[in-house]
Amino acid sequence: MPSMRERGVLLGLFVGLCGLGAQRALAPRDLAERVLRSGASLNDVAREHPPEQAGSFPAAWVHGADCASDPLIQVHAYNEDLYVLRQSKCATFEAPFVYLVFGEERALLLDTGATADGPLWETVEGLVAQWLERREQGFVELIVAHSHSHGDHVAGDGLFAGRELVSTVVTLERPGVLAFWGFEHYPDDAATLDLGGRVLDVLGTPGHKDDGVTLYDRRTHLLFTGDLVYPGHLFVFTPEEWPDFVASLRRLVAFAAEHPVEHVLGCHVEMGAAPRASFAYGTVRQDDEHPLQLDADVLLRVLEAAEAMGETPRCEVHDDFVIHPVFAGGIRWNG
Ligand SMILES: [Zn+2]
Ligand SMILES: [Zn+2]
Repeated sequence: MPSMRERGVLLGLFVGLCGLGAQRALAPRDLAERVLRSGASLNDVAREHPPEQAGSFPAAWVHGADCASDPLIQVHAYNEDLYVLRQSKCATFEAPFVYLVFGEERALLLDTGATADGPLWETVEGLVAQWLERREQGFVELIVAHSHSHGDHVAGDGLFAGRELVSTVVTLERPGVLAFWGFEHYPDDAATLDLGGRVLDVLGTPGHKDDGVTLYDRRTHLLFTGDLVYPGHLFVFTPEEWPDFVASLRRLVAFAAEHPVEHVLGCHVEMGAAPRASFAYGTVRQDDEHPLQLDADVLLRVLEAAEAMGETPRCEVHDDFVIHPVFAGGIRWNG
């Protein structure tokens, strides 16, 4: 977490923007409620505090339109120290996004995709080699960890195990996962991962999966939400996990009130560009996709939508996401 001084600065500016009064003593739940009720904009917080290092997104991602010529993995440099990779829809309809984040001493590969084969290792190894060469640096340690342990995010782990470059492939067993991140009281405490001159905050965000985390990059202000929030089907699988889902959303809203969030980045895209256009889960060809990146205020929109359901969660299509409690009955499946 940032120092108290940094927190105070952010909080002070946020309070100045939104006129909410001192929030420091509030629990995430109460702070999230306060932000929701105030009509405050998390986008304003981000706008007032540009990140140290900005980046860009491609005009389009591979989306299953041309399986003869699409690369199996599309690589995009968000900036020179952060890469976004997308697995082709032609290789797996899940087409997950994978993130490679470089610090001075360590690089983090967040997720390994949905297939046990394919060129992910070679792709990442090449990016690391390029990065080292550009910096005239001899070595960087590669850590392989996961947004959560669903199969479409961990299937490529075996490609990385035992490689000299790779110091850690984080286990899929929950106690080991939580210990790796440094949680003692998951999900209520927060942790950090220091890549060397670059610190990521690690928030416990169960609801979609009981080992889910959200990472915040203090350098770019990107928030990596895994499958909890993204432009697609926000799956919650059991009634028992629904309160966790809502609590995680509150945690993220409270966090984004105190830390500028430039973009919310999940691991899939399953929405079209037009409002409320959702692709059925399992769709391979997704012409005219929604962009991957969402603005910070999406956290408020998802929380508001989930809270409005009260005790009766149900499938509900919104402009840029679908609340999809699987236990309440599906909407459209195509897989
Ligand atoms: Zn998942
Ligand atoms: Zn997934």
